[in-house]
Amino acid sequence: MENPSPVEPVRIALKKSESLDIEWSDGAKSHFELRFLRRMCPCAGCQGERDLLGRTLLPVVRTTYDGPITARGAELVGNYALRMIWSDQHSTGIYSYTYLRSLSKIQ
Ligand SMILES: [Zn+2]
Repeated sequence: MENPSPVEPVRIALKKSESLDIEWSDGAKSHFELRFLRRMCPCAGCQGERDLLGRTLLPVVRTTYDGPITARGAELVGNYALRMIWSDQHSTGIYSYTYLRSLSKIQ
């Protein structure tokens, strides 16, 4: 696949109980509520529960975890993704930059 100008974060700000903000190299900015990000976890274990691209988002969102979602941390994976470490012990979700960009459009 051609990918002439990959967009990557130039600034990542994580507020562990609220939100994740990303400034991208093309000047765009994304703001994600953590609950939203957790719900959209792209890992295999979570993927089966909902539409990945959000085209048919359920009117009532259901997750297997009802407690307050906070992030314990985030770490870069290579130069293409961000791994979120969640308060519910879940940390296998790798959020590629491409995925995050697509999420910022449907949020
Ligand atoms: Zn997951």
